[in-house]
Amino acid sequence: MHLCAMTVDVEDFDTLALRGYLGRSIKPRRAVIRGTHLLLERFAQFSAKATFFFLAEVAEAYPALVRSVVQGGHEIGVHGYSHRKFFNMRPSAAFHEVYKAKRLIEDIIGSEVKGHRAPAFSIGPDTAWAFEVLGRAGFSYDSSVMPFRGRRYGWPGFPERIQRIEIKNGLSLIEAPMPLMHFGGVQLPAGGGGYLRHFPYWYTTRALKRVPSGQPIIAYLHPYDVDTVSTYGDLHKHLRWSGIAQRLYLRLQYRNRHTMMPKLNRLMSDFKFTNLSHVIDQVVQNNMVGA
Ligand SMILES: [Zn+2]
Repeated sequence: MHLCAMTVDVEDFDTLALRGYLGRSIKPRRAVIRGTHLLLERFAQFSAKATFFFLAEVAEAYPALVRSVVQGGHEIGVHGYSHRKFFNMRPSAAFHEVYKAKRLIEDIIGSEVKGHRAPAFSIGPDTAWAFEVLGRAGFSYDSSVMPFRGRRYGWPGFPERIQRIEIKNGLSLIEAPMPLMHFGGVQLPAGGGGYLRHFPYWYTTRALKRVPSGQPIIAYLHPYDVDTVSTYGDLHKHLRWSGIAQRLYLRLQYRNRHTMMPKLNRLMSDFKFTNLSHVIDQVVQNNMVGA
């Protein structure tokens, strides 16, 4: 039986896409509140617990949302301040980004934040310095490595089990990499997100059941994955991108959102989810941590 962690990266897709297009910061849309509450209600129905990695810009705009998540009995983590990817930053800027985010969120909830997830899983071989940055910022664990060769991200060859990473000056950090499904010689991410949204439910359940025993399942979602009110048309009228590849990418972010709640119901029935800190504690207690 696998240990199963549910994780949510709390951000709004339309806000990030518009900001990339406009080249300036804009306040996160209130859609992120709607999507997060939909997830909270669903998790409560199944008595499931989760870790919500908040983009600090969302927490800053909507501190009451962070407190609602805490009241639901869930863990709060950090998903960066402004969604800058590690491979677009130098270590000093990355430290500033994650440290500022951690302090802001800790001030809102009045307790320490342990966990971090990088925007776009952007910790890989070229950004391995990120572990030291996170350790110095005071995080005790990270869950940002996708241990396969992806098109936009990934760290091929990174161990697939929870690892203790030794950092200089006696510091260490736990890395909980995202699970993979091995099928023949192929490796595919098994944790959810777009894979849960685009593919039929059986793909995710088979993928998760194939995660080697002893390795936890870490599922991930975003509030916008379940937001069926926002539409591609609304976004497109604000950003007049004409490139076919860009339009296709945007359209894919809206595809199959209406299928998510039924899939989530099945996922919650088939697996018993808790937060990621709890899963890591269990793995540490069982001496199953790699080094
Ligand atoms: Zn993100």
